[in-house]
Amino acid sequence: MKIGIVGAGLGGLLAGAILSKNYDITIYEKLPIVGGRFTNLPYKGYQLTTGALHMVPHGADGYLAQLIKKAGCSVNIINSAVEGYFKIKGKDRTYKELFGIVGFKDKLKALKLMADLKMGKFDDNASFGELLKDIPYAYEVGNSFTGWALSLTADDTPISEVKEIAKHYKKFGGPGMIVGGCSSIINELVKVIEKNNGKIITNYNVKNITIENNKGYIDSNEFDIVISNLSPTITEKISNVDIINNGNNNGKKPIPSKGIKIAIGSKEKLINHNTIVFTPECERINGFNCPSNVDKNLAKEGRNLIMVHGIQITNNVKKEIDIMLNDIENIYSEKNINYEIIHIQSYRDDMPVNHASNGTDLNPIVNDRLYLVGDGVKGKGGIEVEGVALSVMKVMDSINDINK
Ligand SMILES: Cc1cc2nc3c(=O)[nH]c(=O)nc-3n(C[C@H](O)[C@H](O)[C@H](O)COP(=O)(O)OP(=O)(O)OC[C@H]3O[C@@H](n4cnc5c(N)ncnc54)[C@H](O)[C@@H]3O)c2cc1C
Repeated sequence: MKIGIVGAGLGGLLAGAILSKNYDITIYEKLPIVGGRFTNLPYKGYQLTTGALHMVPHGADGYLAQLIKKAGCSVNIINSAVEGYFKIKGKDRTYKELFGIVGFKDKLKALKLMADLKMGKFDDNASFGELLKDIPYAYEVGNSFTGWALSLTADDTPISEVKEIAKHYKKFGGPGMIVGGCSSIINELVKVIEKNNGKIITNYNVKNITIENNKGYIDSNEFDIVISNLSPTITEKISNVDIINNGNNNGKKPIPSKGIKIAIGSKEKLINHNTIVFTPECERINGFNCPSNVDKNLAKEGRNLIMVHGIQITNNVKKEIDIMLNDIENIYSEKNINYEIIHIQSYRDDMPVNHASNGTDLNPIVNDRLYLVGDGVKGKGGIEVEGVALSVMKVMDSINDINK
């Protein structure tokens, strides 16, 4: 069976690597490089990235790790000892330690809220922010988490997603950092595809996807199945198939999430650990990590690499960046550490943080000839690349089913 894949982002390569074991696959990528928003970007001696922060949400045990293993890749993901710290009143505190700093009344409210949540007393379609709004600390903490993990405010995050995310955390634990950074996963996937005689054609901008007469076409190239790694909206634009109003989606519109990432270098260490520091007290940044604590080759010799992420709230990108830079200055000056801003990247429009924010994802199965993979069709509760992996799993299952 011949399978054509449009886009060599993480979703396209992951699907390609697994399918190349049994099928004849060809991947078309418009850029000269592969990996999309999940690969390294060497810059001024640092390994920056095209998107992600060298981190996998559920580390060496989550859905992505399972799939790359299944594909036959060998990648070293180091799990974080702690799921994440929250920077509050000048100290980095674990989630449990947060209970020690809230007042008695708020503590009671928080315990009741957690019990109610467990018992399913909240409407799944209500927002996480609505749930937290009576406890100011919890609201800020919630916002820093959803901002970092989903590039959404707590008010824009449905409770149903948070519940599913909590289940995934319980099952797999917190994040892990990739030795060598994002591109170690991408390079391994490419190796597998090439070993299995799959083809990756770069510098090829696909103009049309056509499904007709029980065949799929990528421009004029004929396939049995087409998988698009582009956003559902762009896939629909270039194809002859209704995706958004298709019976599997019923008009549900994917809403992208926007964000800004800032890379910082410093001689002295801001943190010593390999997990996330969420920043609920900052005006705009949601958190930061230090990938060079896991792999010093990700930073210039003698320097540390800190990656900061913040949600983009208004459309004034310059103002948003200025607010983030002010947050960064406050964090570094508190510790009296000199630092250098290496790079600032903003993600919106055709290159957002997520093509569909959590809760607005579409179904990856369009019909039995056309499938979608990537962050516009993440599985429920799938944070970032874990969601991309869930979309690939669903597509694999469906393709294997029709070939039984
Ligand atoms: C700032 C930021 C921080 C993030 N941090 C993390 C993190 O720490 N951890 C994490 O797990 N995730 C993170 N993510 C999310 C993660 O990077 C994405 O979810 C993931 O990379 C999306 O992969 P994808 O395959 O869906 O899409 P993409 O990476 O966008 O791949 C799509 C590919 O299709 C190609 N393409 C587009 N149009 C065409 C065409 N017409 N013809 C041919 N090819 C085409 C593109 O060039 C691209 O290579 C972050 C994202 C951003 C932006």
